[in-house]
Amino acid sequence: MENNSFFGDVCKYFDKASGFLKYPAGLLEQIKICNSVYHVQFPLRKDNDTYEVVNAWRVEHSHHMLPVKGGIRYSSMVNEDEVMALAALMTYKCAVVNVPFGGAKGGIKIDPWKYKSSELERITRRYAVELIKKNFIGPGVDVPAPDYGTGPREMSWIADTFATFNSYNTSQTDSFACVTGKPIAMHGIGGRKEATGRGVFFAVREACRVEEDMKKLGLTKGLEGKSVIVQGLGNVGYFAASLMQEGGAKIIGLIEREGGIYDANGLDVNEVVKHRKETGSILGFKKATDYKNGADVLELECDILIPAALEKQIHNGNANKIKAKIIGEGANGPVTAEAEEILLKKNILILADMYTNAGGVTVSYFEWLKNLSHVAFGRMEKRYDEFSHGNFVNIIESMTKQSMSASQKDMVIKGASEVDLVNSGLEDTMITAYHQIREKWMSNKKIDSFRTAAFICAVEKIGESYMNLGIFP
Ligand code: GLU
Repeated sequence: MENNSFFGDVCKYFDKASGFLKYPAGLLEQIKICNSVYHVQFPLRKDNDTYEVVNAWRVEHSHHMLPVKGGIRYSSMVNEDEVMALAALMTYKCAVVNVPFGGAKGGIKIDPWKYKSSELERITRRYAVELIKKNFIGPGVDVPAPDYGTGPREMSWIADTFATFNSYNTSQTDSFACVTGKPIAMHGIGGRKEATGRGVFFAVREACRVEEDMKKLGLTKGLEGKSVIVQGLGNVGYFAASLMQEGGAKIIGLIEREGGIYDANGLDVNEVVKHRKETGSILGFKKATDYKNGADVLELECDILIPAALEKQIHNGNANKIKAKIIGEGANGPVTAEAEEILLKKNILILADMYTNAGGVTVSYFEWLKNLSHVAFGRMEKRYDEFSHGNFVNIIESMTKQSMSASQKDMVIKGASEVDLVNSGLEDTMITAYHQIREKWMSNKKIDSFRTAAFICAVEKIGESYMNLGIFP
């Protein structure tokens, strides 16, 4: 497998897209580079009274819009190059789905599964303090979120630490907007946990709805009946897989850290998850075939492959063996730049990460808005809407002298709850962005891929912001 720089790969994509843009070279350079890279080292006292030095980063890639936004990952693979690449991808991701933020990313180089929760709490709170000290966190400055190895628990530790330090500030009531992906009971938002996976589902479903594109791949229109392999049963992969299954697709392969399973007749995602909880592994599930080396399952025949784990899973060593017709990048950077060249020659449609997994940051944006407006979406209007929809039903019934069934009435009368609004806002965002990117792609025969088109859309928007700032004439 090639050992390329991940940030180097992102820059390669950027350069390819820049060739289609007429911005001054200096402006393009300004967009490409990382504005601020912060590396901090601090001690951890473990529960057994030994000490360890922890390495952590926060990278703010682009300040063309504030706050900057992006998750924090805990993984033993974290390094500066990776955090820079992921921060840059956040900038392009936000631009592509019209979320008005710059991009950032954080990382702590630890294997979170090897620490007690008391130790993780100390690491997280200390990291938050280090960010506060350098002004690398705040509702209008830099707003972290969960990523690989972190979740609502870590976000509430960060929010609590930030609020503690901010208690005499006039903007204290806005403190909880300093981080998203929080638990609902701690100013989080309904639908955030599922958001990235749900976004992946909307992205793939939208691609499958375009008959002309499916024909080029030798596929029929629609998700119904398509065979799917998913790598990763974490937050992203699990929700993407179960929504695809609900949407009529057949999940034939699943991959986790311990290996992969395959069944051409289809796997029930929830049953596999239950089996993994009970036995500690996805292997040994009913009649499915076991693959001790999970990566082998990536190479099996399927219509749609969703790598939703980590980066560099499809590389120059296995790209030639990939048989999927569509790859939906649930993870960030699962396909290397070299692998992409090979896959494009094989006519595989790659739905690039910066668009496909943008559901998480989209709903983070909704959470941030909720925190700053101090009211849940739908709270003011839900009952009023139900009342007026009810009046409307009564008028129709009296005019037509016919009554609606109870289920028809429920459907018409129901006012939108917070999670209904979040999911609908997410669906609209993903569908709109898909067609913006596709139109760009179709507008010029020289644009070689969906990814290049997505980069062009993103860089165009960021360039426009800089031009409006008056920095570049
Ligand atoms: N970590 C997620 C991502 O890579 C979410 C970021 C956010 O919500 O700010 O997109």
